[in-house]
Amino acid sequence: MTILDEIKLNKVLLSDGALGTILQSKGLKPGECPELWNISHRSDVREIAESYLFAGSDIVTTNSFGGSRIKLSQYGLGERTSEINTTAAAICREAAGNDRHVAGSIGPTGKMLLMGDVTEEELLDSFSEQALALEKGGADIIIIETMSAADEAVLAVKAARSSTGCTVIITMTFTGDGNGEYHTMMGISPAEMVIAMKEAGAHIIGSNCGNGIREMIGVTGAIRSADNKIPVIIQANAGIPEFVDGVTLFQESPEMMASFVPDLLKAGVNIIGGCCGTTPAHIRAIAKALGR
Ligand SMILES: [Zn+2]
Repeated sequence: MTILDEIKLNKVLLSDGALGTILQSKGLKPGECPELWNISHRSDVREIAESYLFAGSDIVTTNSFGGSRIKLSQYGLGERTSEINTTAAAICREAAGNDRHVAGSIGPTGKMLLMGDVTEEELLDSFSEQALALEKGGADIIIIETMSAADEAVLAVKAARSSTGCTVIITMTFTGDGNGEYHTMMGISPAEMVIAMKEAGAHIIGSNCGNGIREMIGVTGAIRSADNKIPVIIQANAGIPEFVDGVTLFQESPEMMASFVPDLLKAGVNIIGGCCGTTPAHIRAIAKALGR
């Protein structure tokens, strides 16, 4: 069954939590390429996927957020794009078996169309190559995450739709202004996201990262007022990131995050997971709040 079929049966799905912050706790150094760990530290990466599956995740996400050719080229690894992404997906598929879902993660390239850093064609090629390699490794979902610019996100969705048969999820990162309005760093509102991403062909739309789960209730409300049918995914950080002695800390406990699950469900969320700072313990607490 695809996740869209499961959502049609009114099932609320549980995705997974952070990857980057857990890789750091396992020894990933600043300046090191996290995606190369799929090859150099394969068992560590697999262990993270297994820990989320054990906590109850229906969906595990690949270690490929920065795995586009554009990003990997900054580490001199552009030529290994296909190998790195295929391996990232294969690790998760091995851990997940065939009953659960593997979401191939695609993050922003860091290049802005608006500034002339990159052409539309270069972005399309880079996203298509990555999505195709993730599907080849066993991903049944492509999740495009932490997007801020609508033009880049549209190209990523179109690339994933045209180059793979995967279910395509897009999530953008919003900040609230304190008065119930939310915008990405590039000024896109949740309603603008919904319109642009539906038109690009996204199957599931939502938000990730940001300033904790509380704000996600407002973001979900804004998405739902633009569209009350499209499946919605929310993957919040474990609170507002705080910088202490050069380290980023996230303070929200698993119980604190899980306490907002009823509000998220009421707001109309179909898939819940976590982003930076969340751990298998957060996912287990959310599973419990979902009555599992
Ligand atoms: Zn995050």
